[in-house]
Amino acid sequence: MLSVNGLKAKVGETEILKGLDLEVKPGEIHAIMGPNGSGKSTFSHVLSGRDGYEVTGGSVLFEGQDLLDMEPEERAQAGVFLAFQYPVELPGVNNTYFLKAALNSIRKARGESELDAVTFMRLIKEKLKILHLDDSLLKRAVNSGFSGGEKKRNEIFQMALLEPKLAILDETDSGLDIDALRVVADGVNALRSPERSMIVVTHYQRLLDYIEPDHVHVLAKGRIIRSGGKELALELEEKGYGWVLEQEQAA
Ligand code: ADP
Ligand code: MG
Ligand code: MG
Repeated sequence: MLSVNGLKAKVGETEILKGLDLEVKPGEIHAIMGPNGSGKSTFSHVLSGRDGYEVTGGSVLFEGQDLLDMEPEERAQAGVFLAFQYPVELPGVNNTYFLKAALNSIRKARGESELDAVTFMRLIKEKLKILHLDDSLLKRAVNSGFSGGEKKRNEIFQMALLEPKLAILDETDSGLDIDALRVVADGVNALRSPERSMIVVTHYQRLLDYIEPDHVHVLAKGRIIRSGGKELALELEEKGYGWVLEQEQAA
């Protein structure tokens, strides 16, 4: 589904990603962990097509297509969900209206018809139920004045509604409480399916108490330096990152 080969990227003059390799198959959940400043967010930003990053080498294929050659909205239409595409605060815009527009744009690109208001509301209710969310966020303006936890809930809700093939979630280290982590975990677990893959970038080993990843990777100094199963996350929790870096240097 996703094939990243030797990816290199710069921010300004500094090379941050230095040959990153990653293979994600349908249905898999991958966790990417690593020390602060190792390039995790840079990797998610490059996948999302955010401005300010220059790809200087390597390739990223999504279902055989060159992802890096696509505009951010083309990536969404192809079935890639990147939380960064929808974090904007739009004070005058009703959240429900925004979600309907986002979904219909994706449907249109797939050659599907626009959903009418009734069908859309039925879909919304179904997704809210799956995620155990109430509808309070829907009546508000997009992300406007949302707390960290509310933004997180809204992001997971967007993901549920847009039904991506591949979702990339970057969990920043900016003070998410345990409830917000559970929203992410519950959302990821509820949306798990044989056709859908997810990459969860996290600074929190704790998140992996709630999500059972198929693969765990350590990103350090701009590359994946170690991959394993879920037991690797436990080992990292116990011993930190130092030993992985030492073994990498010795190799
Ligand atoms: P992580 O998410 O793993 O903590 P980041 O990808 O945010 O790491 O950052 C990787 C490195 O890139 C850090 O050294 C950081 O200081 C640098 N960096 C990130 N964004 C920028 C930027 N916009 N300008 C300059 N340096 C940046
Ligand atoms: Mg960081
Ligand atoms: Mg980060």
